Amino acid sequence: MKAVNPANNRLIKEYPEHEMAEVKHIINLAQEEYHAWRRVSFVQRAALMKNAAHVLRKNKEKLAFLITQEMGKIIRESRAEVEKCAWVCDYYAENAERFLTAEIIETDAGESYVSFEPLGIVLAVMPWNFPFWQVFRFAAPALMAGNAGLLKHASNVPGCALAIEKIFKEAGFPENIFRTLLIKPNLIPDVIGDRHVQAATLTGSEPAGAAVAALAGREIKKTVLELGGSDPFIVLRDADLDKAVQTAVQARMINAGQSCIAAKRFIVVEDLLPAFKQKMAEKMRALKVGDPQDESTDVGPLARPDLVRDLERQVEKSIEQGARLLLGGKAIEGPGNFYQPTVLTDVKKGMPVYEEETFGPVAAIIPVQDEDEAIAVANDSPFGLGASLWTKNIEKGKTLAREIRAGAVFINGMVKSDPRLPFGGIKKSGYGRELSHYGIKEFVNIKTVWVA
Ligand code: NDP
Repeated sequence: MKAVNPANNRLIKEYPEHEMAEVKHIINLAQEEYHAWRRVSFVQRAALMKNAAHVLRKNKEKLAFLITQEMGKIIRESRAEVEKCAWVCDYYAENAERFLTAEIIETDAGESYVSFEPLGIVLAVMPWNFPFWQVFRFAAPALMAGNAGLLKHASNVPGCALAIEKIFKEAGFPENIFRTLLIKPNLIPDVIGDRHVQAATLTGSEPAGAAVAALAGREIKKTVLELGGSDPFIVLRDADLDKAVQTAVQARMINAGQSCIAAKRFIVVEDLLPAFKQKMAEKMRALKVGDPQDESTDVGPLARPDLVRDLERQVEKSIEQGARLLLGGKAIEGPGNFYQPTVLTDVKKGMPVYEEETFGPVAAIIPVQDEDEAIAVANDSPFGLGASLWTKNIEKGKTLAREIRAGAVFINGMVKSDPRLPFGGIKKSGYGRELSHYGIKEFVNIKTVWVA
């Protein structure tokens, strides 16, 4: 497995892949340790999870450097990602016991209650875009619930994958309760088919999600899928335009646009359109693209060359179909996978930037006549992850939020994940929820106990 620096496409390091025999051995070790781990008290598990938060914070600079080096995120965002992982560890250390306290339910029994118990080994197939956060938001609740975790990380971030395994070890968790498998997708059927593996979670693209869910379905194993998004950013007539534009740029450009909850379709009512376009293009033009390790850089490279090619195709085809280019529109020549901050307007149904997830620094502006059309366009997507809605009339915003088919609606704010709030989508964005008390209950046996 090769880690390649996306800022210059130079090889960082090569890692030997695990053979299937090694994978089986790791699964057996995890299973053995799980038997003891499931009986460990919440107090003890919480102490270890607090240690993990401490290890993350202590090594913040080193880990942030590794993230930036392997997948190209700007260094400020890498540091923030490590901090957020420490937060989710603290959050579940402090709240898991309360979330999983048995629920007493009055029935005709002498006593009846619901007990939340671990399932066993859960496989996590994870992407490179938030190579630490995506893993920790799975691992912190899963381990606190008493499960074991196996990580199959994206092939372009093997260093991050091994660093995460090490963090749990250094925090004092049992050796094999969280293990990294350095494998390609071709070994996934055998992992999911293993009798000790009870469930799987995947964050990534639709085809990868469908493949893992199909395998798990055949084995009758539970899955959670967190897939793509083409989040609408709806600007109504009475929006605070300056705030909306400022947030629009931030929401599109986080992680150079490679985020499932990045705002991707900017749906703007016509009265505000000229001002919105002008301000958006101005702010996007001012962003500094360059070396992600440089503190002053705003936009780094995309994680892999094929992601640049995908984006080029989406933009070129949309222009051919009538979209108008306000800014950018091209890959940047030279070493590294850089793409210009890009703004397209007059975007219409049928164009790739309308129909597909754009995973890069490309904003697609879709003009609409009014509120009703704005909601119809927002819902006209195969995805349903997040949505951002801009209006000064909060009551109207809350009413419209009910009409938006997505897993989250943020009124006058940017869609973001927060350990305290559930996170996930509907439609092709997946199913199940991560984070909050909903997330920790995805991988537990919700057991009824009935006493005469
Ligand atoms: P993938 O979905 O291919 O990769 C995500 C993870 O799934 C990786 O660990 C990958 O392994 C694994 N995987 C891929 N195919 C399979 C399979 N058939 N069975 C089991 N595991 C599999 O995403 P890409 O990196 O190729 O990105 C492509 C597009 O996906 C992006 O442009 C974006 O649109 C979307 N995406 C969305 C993300 C999100 O957060 N919602 C995150 C990442 C991508 P390996 O790396 O070894 O192939």
